[in-house]
Amino acid sequence: MLKKLFQSFRSPLRRLPLQRRAPEILTSRQHSLHRDDISRNAVNVVQRLQQAGYQAYVVGGCVRDLLLDLDPKDFDVATSATPEQVRAEFRNARVIGRRFKLVHVHFGREIIEVATFRANHPEDDDEEDANPLASRNESGRILRDNVYGTLEDDAQRRDFTINALYYDPASERILDHTHGVHDIRNRLIRLIGDPEQRYQEDPVRMLRAVRFAAKLDFEIEKHSAEPIRRLAPLLKEIPSARLFDEVIKLFLGGQAERTFELLLEYDLFAPLFPASALALERNPEYAGQLIRQALANTDDRIYAGKPVTPAFLFAALLWPALPARVLELQDRGMPPIPAMQEAAHDIIWQQCQRTAIPKRFSIPMREIWDMQERLPRRHGRRADQLIESPRFRAGYDFLLLRESAGEQTGGLGDWWTDYQEADEAGRRAMIRGLSSSKDDPAARKRRRGGRRRRSGGDSDAAAD
Ligand code: ATP
Ligand code: MG
Repeated sequence: MLKKLFQSFRSPLRRLPLQRRAPEILTSRQHSLHRDDISRNAVNVVQRLQQAGYQAYVVGGCVRDLLLDLDPKDFDVATSATPEQVRAEFRNARVIGRRFKLVHVHFGREIIEVATFRANHPEDDDEEDANPLASRNESGRILRDNVYGTLEDDAQRRDFTINALYYDPASERILDHTHGVHDIRNRLIRLIGDPEQRYQEDPVRMLRAVRFAAKLDFEIEKHSAEPIRRLAPLLKEIPSARLFDEVIKLFLGGQAERTFELLLEYDLFAPLFPASALALERNPEYAGQLIRQALANTDDRIYAGKPVTPAFLFAALLWPALPARVLELQDRGMPPIPAMQEAAHDIIWQQCQRTAIPKRFSIPMREIWDMQERLPRRHGRRADQLIESPRFRAGYDFLLLRESAGEQTGGLGDWWTDYQEADEAGRRAMIRGLSSSKDDPAARKRRRGGRRRRSGGDSDAAAD
């Protein structure tokens, strides 16, 4: 009891109750959103919950995006029903998540995410220790977030004002508790509540601020921007699997280039990619050019509706970190090719401590890198074998990326471009041409008279 009293003296600001007020209500004539813009399935979920006597709204990013005339990525629903009550209403529903319990209602390929209204966290640690629904760590980070609350509570616990708009498809009204519509009009990303505290509760909100600023071309409001640089190191505490998901959203959302500049501006890149940040510091021109070009290509591909893979993205983000590590190992006496293999392994391992890279991406990523050692070795049937490899295209694209950043490869990219376009006779001539040129390291080795041993560190054998 006494401790509680002291705590309230120590941090009076943090304990001030949030100012409550009635939401601003926008009728259908006061906003541009129309029921037909909303996914049929989301409207059905809301209607069904309302008919069962619960409150339910379409909420979050989809309302924001529709007000901005953008295509929503997905549709989220917020309701007064608990996850179990939601599940009971739908045959096609599954409760997911532990840190944050949700219900996924499945309609073929579309999933409508239904979240129960939640309250902000009680800040009293004594009480929380025993609370199975909510918990924080020492720095205030929320570890569990399953304290349910009212609609008003739910609006206050959301991250940004522009994400806290509730749309009722039945009345076509928007409920705005946080001046979100005003901030959308003024193109501002503004945290709800005290920015410092809200970032401490969940440091990923700093990444979300940057992501939305880039995606929507909004500005981060000055009080919401101010603490970011100072608090950026808190990202190191976030579980690596969650950070991987966030990185994917940051760089595969179609605005990777702009996002990257903002991450740098707010010192958020280094805690995500420490080795790449160091490479950028040591060699800003080359590393910056390579990463920016890779991100620009990614944005172009997304814009053109072409597939993009995290493997290529991570290969590019981390490639500039390789040379320093290779040199370090060579200085310790390791021969070049094993040094390259070891460095690749180390850099990926280190990165996985920050952003867990699932094997389905780290393996092809490694293959793209290995391909860089194989592409110069074109003699005999090697070029044909390489071109047949499922990783050839990515490896070749990566080679062009390296060249565009100023890496000297002796025209290797052009050679491969020509080779792909050449007919059989043309290809044979190109390979013969190599015997007399000094381009092919394998040919060079043969000329030196050394017979290649399988264990001799040739990348064909060393690729794992
Ligand atoms: P998009 O789906 O376009 O990336 P979104 O705003 O829908 O954007 P989601 O990650 O789908 O983002 O989250 C849905 C909603 O949940 C958000 O709009 C926001 O209201 C709330 N939310 C998500 N993450 C957080 C968070 N870390 N802290 C507080 N609220 C959050
Ligand atoms: Mg969403």
